[in-house]
Amino acid sequence: MTERISITPTHRYRNNDKLIGIGNEFWDMSERNGLAGLVADLDSGVLRTTAGHEFVPDGHEFINFSCCSYLDLDSHPKVIEGGLDAMRRYGVLDHCIARSRVQIPAMLELEDSLGELFGAHVVCSIAASTATFGLLPLIASGHLGNGTRPLMVFDKNAHISMSNLKPVCADETEVVTSPHHDLDFIEDACRKYARVAYVCDGSDSLGGYAPVKELAELQDKYGLLVYYDDSHSLSAYGERGVGYVRTHSPVLDERTIVVVTLNKAFGTSGAAIVLDGYEKETLRVIERFGGALNYSQLLNTAAVGAGLASAEIHRTPELTTLQDRLYRNIELFDSLVHTEQTGSTYPIRLVPMSDETVIEAGRRVFEAGFYVSPVFFPIVARGTAGLRVMMRAGQTEEQVRGLCAVLTEVGASPAIPAPGEAAR
Ligand SMILES: *Cc1c(COP(=O)(O)O)cnc(C)c1O
Repeated sequence: MTERISITPTHRYRNNDKLIGIGNEFWDMSERNGLAGLVADLDSGVLRTTAGHEFVPDGHEFINFSCCSYLDLDSHPKVIEGGLDAMRRYGVLDHCIARSRVQIPAMLELEDSLGELFGAHVVCSIAASTATFGLLPLIASGHLGNGTRPLMVFDKNAHISMSNLKPVCADETEVVTSPHHDLDFIEDACRKYARVAYVCDGSDSLGGYAPVKELAELQDKYGLLVYYDDSHSLSAYGERGVGYVRTHSPVLDERTIVVVTLNKAFGTSGAAIVLDGYEKETLRVIERFGGALNYSQLLNTAAVGAGLASAEIHRTPELTTLQDRLYRNIELFDSLVHTEQTGSTYPIRLVPMSDETVIEAGRRVFEAGFYVSPVFFPIVARGTAGLRVMMRAGQTEEQVRGLCAVLTEVGASPAIPAPGEAAR
């Protein structure tokens, strides 16, 4: 028998051996220490916004400081009611046929509502990652843009839902990875290539925002197209919660594409693709050829109803009240524990730890009644491990103070008091 061929992969854009080889060991360790694979009941959806207790089966009670529902809208009575109401109104949960053939008006209703909120055209998707999966290949081939195949520049820190698309985009055009927010790198590419598309997070999952103003200059000078995933700042940031990019980017036309998940601070399900200035024909191409954007009806009616209710809350002063509560908790945290993110409006803080100590520290914090997530390579770059803390509007002052006390016990740096301010 002739020898059969074994395959040597090129690994130009991804490498599961590396990813799983290193990452899985940490996950196993997290799980052995009771910090992953948890199944926890909420004491009640409504109560979580005020008390925030969760339970694991042995009865251990904890406050979740690792939940991205920054405004606690996911358990808001109006959001719950909105989901139930839409189910009754439409009488169907899912209507499984490609939307480009036949659709019920549910998702259109949500797209109209979100479009009004953003002052833009909105296409919904079942998830931000699904939207990215649909859109980036269309950008790569020039079908979403001005027809010229762009050089695709992926930011080194782009969320995995975007960087996963590198091999797919590379089949349509050329793909490169830039250092984090490296404007010189991007400008250099703009000088060399007829068209460039830059792919990055609008708000990073470990704090910090994209340089939207500087990028806008490149957009004006070279026609650069920027694809922002602004999932982390929707609802939590800006007037009516429109997020960081749409609050600050001076370029809101076809050169800026924003994708946001509705699963985080918005408190429901799905995602919104926020577009300006695209022709109807291009929108049809997105709908028809955007991969999973056209596989089925996408958002079920409960998600649509919940989304409509959350969008309504975004139009009322209640949103500002919730944002203010969130900011107050962030400020309280910053007054007690120092991190690199201190002073930012961003709801995530990373308390640095070494790869060796991070799990043990997380376990001690959990035993004290708080859940924070240990993060480590490959979730974050090597040597940047730590405990990731997420603030929410509904956490009480007592809870925030309690957490900060434990964090300093396990090695967090206490806040440096401002000059003239007595240490608290
Ligand atoms: C959480 C997150 C996602 C995932 O959103 P889904 O809607 O669940 O796919 C995508 N991008 C970024 C930047 C995120 O933080």
